[in-house]
Amino acid sequence: MNKTNPSIIIVGAGMTGIQLAIKLKAKGFNNIIMLEKSDKVGGTWNHNTYPGIACDVPSHAYTYSFNPNPNWSNHFPKGDEIQKYFTDTVTKYGLHQHIHTGETLLESIFDEEYQQWRVKTDKYDYVCDLLFFATGILHQPNIPQFEGMENFSGTMFHTSQWDHDIDFSNKKVGVVGVGSSAAQCIPELAKDQTTQLKVFQRTPQWIVEVPDKVFTVDEKHRFKTQPWRMKFVREMALLSYRQNTAALTNTDWFSRLKHKIMWFLATKNLNDSVKDPTLRARLTPDYKFGCKRVIINSTFYDAVQKPNVELFTGPIDKFNKDGIVTEQAGFVDLDVIVLATGFDPAAFMRPSTLIGRDGISIDDVWDEKIQAYRSMFVPGFPNCFIMLGPNSPIGNYSVIEMSEKQTDYALQLVEKWMNDEVQTIEAKPEAMAEWNAMLREKMKDTVWVSGCQSWYLDKDGDPLAWPDSWGSWVDAMRAPNMDHFINN
Ligand code: NAP
Repeated sequence: MNKTNPSIIIVGAGMTGIQLAIKLKAKGFNNIIMLEKSDKVGGTWNHNTYPGIACDVPSHAYTYSFNPNPNWSNHFPKGDEIQKYFTDTVTKYGLHQHIHTGETLLESIFDEEYQQWRVKTDKYDYVCDLLFFATGILHQPNIPQFEGMENFSGTMFHTSQWDHDIDFSNKKVGVVGVGSSAAQCIPELAKDQTTQLKVFQRTPQWIVEVPDKVFTVDEKHRFKTQPWRMKFVREMALLSYRQNTAALTNTDWFSRLKHKIMWFLATKNLNDSVKDPTLRARLTPDYKFGCKRVIINSTFYDAVQKPNVELFTGPIDKFNKDGIVTEQAGFVDLDVIVLATGFDPAAFMRPSTLIGRDGISIDDVWDEKIQAYRSMFVPGFPNCFIMLGPNSPIGNYSVIEMSEKQTDYALQLVEKWMNDEVQTIEAKPEAMAEWNAMLREKMKDTVWVSGCQSWYLDKDGDPLAWPDSWGSWVDAMRAPNMDHFINN
């Protein structure tokens, strides 16, 4: 173990990995390797290239605090522009020298004797003092196993693995799912009147309309010459998103009022957008607003009313060679099937193997419950940081802001470790138990447990998201409580 110049491995060169490496370098760490399984950096924004991809968090809020971007073209940034922002950031901060693209992590094993991690990829073996997982929350596609799926003779792919060779003109295209990804790609696919689009909705979604805005040349110039303007726009956006998040997790009168207002706006959006009462009824959720992640979108309702688009509701029965059979509508003939079926939010560093002290595997530790102290540390896995780990404040808030807060907290711990305040950074089991008891208490108040199915919930129906306001997350990330770490 080298505490003076520790060797650091960051798994993932997406949004979190990039800012983590920048912040580590700013503190003087240089012995950093970033493992990236893909051939490019950018994570989510590298993988997800479906038509219409954009971020429903405003651009100036979906930007690193230390690297503002006056050139955002829209209020809601498009996927390729975000990807460019990340690649430009990597170049600007000289990260290329650290990044090993096209290298997949296979296993990480803690070596008790040397108090280091032995890390194996599909190319090399490494040893490091500090291991950071910056693997993102939504990176493993959820591919439901429908009966007969393997018999479908057309083209089929998940939204995060878009097949750009397909010409959708004159094709019968099925989209399974109506989540955030589907709500963005369906309007784009529907633009071609020769495409017969069939949308398979198992459960309707709450959709709030927030119109996009194109920033003019003058506005961008002002952002550049008067950076306080960018900061102002960012802070205002974050403030409003924080308010909305609290409305989903807290039960004080103000949060309940905000929840009612948002429900009203979503209902009004549906009523104003969809005039046919039968279609409107099929698009109306029967669960509380915000129980599933709220969709911010202004084009989905128009798209599903186009003459070349048909909405099928209810469960899918099975697939066959030529299409999909639903319980309500029977057989639907298709050439292409797009699975907009979301992701496995509990994958974290998996499928790679993670073995901590005494040969314990993270799979075994998490078999009963996926949890981590301060959403980052699992007892028995020293000097191992799970960025955006279990119960991070995912939702409609800026994931960049969350990630930066976690990083600042993690770096404080690294500093204490280097100053020998602890031998290794490892949470006490009782600290994790206390942390989880606190989370479980708070979960009861969230809208996520009000009776719908969503990717926020684990197999026991407990939210994997942060069940409290943004402010309480900031408090939790403010400074490490060293009593909660093993002082070995
Ligand atoms: P998602 O929100 O999880 O939606 C998945 C959709 O697939 C749902 O409509 C779901 O129906 C349906 N589905 C899943 N399994 C099914 C099955 N067996 N049979 C029928 N339907 C099934 O996934 P997503 O749209 O990819 O979005 C995931 C997350 O990615 C979002 O919540 C968000 O956090 C992030 N995202 C963000 C943006 C952004 O703009 N910031 C854009 C895209 C994605 P049920 O509702 O019935 O389960």
